[in-house]
Amino acid sequence: MHIETLYVRFASESGKARPSVLYRGLEEAVEMGCKHMRLIDHPLRYPDIALKVTEFAISRDIDIELDTPVDDVTPAVMENLKAFPGDIAILFPQDKPPNPQDLLPNGKRMNVKRLIASITIVSSSPVATASAELAEALFARGFDLLKFSILWNSYADATEYLQTVEMVNHLASTYSGKVLAMIPWVLLKRENFRVGRTVCQYKETVGLTLDGVVTCCGTDPIWAPTFSVSSRRLCEIVRDHPALRQLREFDYTKVKGVCSQCLFSRYCANQCPAYVFNTTGAFDNSLPECQWLYEKGVFPHEFLIRKR
Ligand code: SF4
Ligand code: SF4
Repeated sequence: MHIETLYVRFASESGKARPSVLYRGLEEAVEMGCKHMRLIDHPLRYPDIALKVTEFAISRDIDIELDTPVDDVTPAVMENLKAFPGDIAILFPQDKPPNPQDLLPNGKRMNVKRLIASITIVSSSPVATASAELAEALFARGFDLLKFSILWNSYADATEYLQTVEMVNHLASTYSGKVLAMIPWVLLKRENFRVGRTVCQYKETVGLTLDGVVTCCGTDPIWAPTFSVSSRRLCEIVRDHPALRQLREFDYTKVKGVCSQCLFSRYCANQCPAYVFNTTGAFDNSLPECQWLYEKGVFPHEFLIRKR
């Protein structure tokens, strides 16, 4: 059993934090080959644990990304993170990413490996119409990368959704290499294909909560039965947990719905089986936005080439 990426989940649904159990899980993840760690949900609400996990990862040459709502960031935490200059990537997920310089005392510059703004556009969001100005402002504030997602189900009208996609495509073309667009391959302009999400490492990604419970990567918390590294080895849990097995056995070449007819299915499958599971209840359904466009009759039919 191999693990490439570990999501350490600092979620409110985690039980009481059990640092010694968590650290045991981290050690076992390293034994299983872990090369990347993502601290997700609310890592900075537990600054002591977040800093220890960061220290642990860096000392073992593991890539680390801190994914935090900006409201959790305090000058004290940022001061502590300076102990790891240039080693961590920070991602701020929200509609209006902050001015990073405002987060540090005395106008000091945030010294991190990469500063990423994850921007989710909803139909009513002002960024849907003002994204060029936003992008320019964020690069000027020191962000290295902008990651755009579009909340397709906030749009009543598929044509409006496609206009927003067009705007994000335009940004990806303008700021080549500095914009990630989490939009389906069929909607990417040809010159932006390299930002398309290829089949991920879902077979080698697991999550671990602060109290040592092992979960799937990005799925919502429905991972009963609960298996914890407090009582079993991580490698056994990864091998035996029904949900993890279901995800591991998911065959992206057998996705249902419109994906099964799409030219790009072998590159992107359904983009993120965990998201598809959260949205539709199964790993092997099509990406909901592509299915929606198909049902609305506006899916680009030139990419529908085969039916398995
Ligand atoms: S239809 Fe499926 S395979 Fe094609 S771009 Fe959309 S998500 Fe990817
Ligand atoms: S399924 Fe989604 S959350 Fe899981 S590893 Fe792939 S991209 Fe990440």
